Amino acid sequence: MNLTLKRAVCAGLLAAATLSPLAARADSNHLFQFATIDALLAGAYEGDLTVDALSKKGDFGLGTFNRVDGEMIVLDGVFYKARGDGKVVKALPDEKTPFATVTYFPKGGEVITVPAGANLHDLEVLVESKITNPNVFYAIKVEGTFKAMKTRAIYPQDKPYKPLSEVSKTQSVFEFQDTTGTLVAFRSPGFSKGFNVPGYHWHYLSKDATQGGHVLSLSVEKGGAQLASVWDVDIQLSKDDTFAKADQTKDRSKELKEVESDRR
Ligand code: ZN
Repeated sequence: MNLTLKRAVCAGLLAAATLSPLAARADSNHLFQFATIDALLAGAYEGDLTVDALSKKGDFGLGTFNRVDGEMIVLDGVFYKARGDGKVVKALPDEKTPFATVTYFPKGGEVITVPAGANLHDLEVLVESKITNPNVFYAIKVEGTFKAMKTRAIYPQDKPYKPLSEVSKTQSVFEFQDTTGTLVAFRSPGFSKGFNVPGYHWHYLSKDATQGGHVLSLSVEKGGAQLASVWDVDIQLSKDDTFAKADQTKDRSKELKEVESDRR
């Protein structure tokens, strides 16, 4: 085989590879998940993944930081931290996370109008009506103006770490009025129980990046939602000792509900 022919054969193989069913999955977005929600619920508040490393895995997402020091909001590649004292700051590249989910949010998707007056439940019902496959992940971005936005954030914890259901009783709650910004969210399928939050998980960042957190409730003034389905999921587990020691054998669904939703 001469060199030219070899090249032609190689090119043919490459073309065949790009047409294979496996390669076709490159069309879907990619979700990167670090550690598990059950470890976080159990009090595994230290992870070994830096913000810098996480930033190579996506430009859109949410999570928290080591010692549950605030809520992580990732938007347009910038990593924000909504702190327990209500301030929103940019996270430092060497800060670490015990739990995070990120993806690259595709540009130019269909925008679904969210009606004025919609609350969080209404928004979830609307998004749910647009979901074509309940058994894959969806990244959800909602840009809008909100009459009301209630968020929470947690102050950094000290060892020995208590379970998140205990810690969240001391969470700071913030209520914003007439705020413009972006909801960063995921809808995770039922089978993700244990490693992610089945159903909806919403974080918020105002346009001026001064308000944010994990969303407890809201009221829409006007908004547009974009959905991106995700088939490819990478899960990276934490090498940290707190992860190794976390009891991840029991069903923590009830704790998760307490921690994620509005308890007031
Ligand atoms: Zn959250």
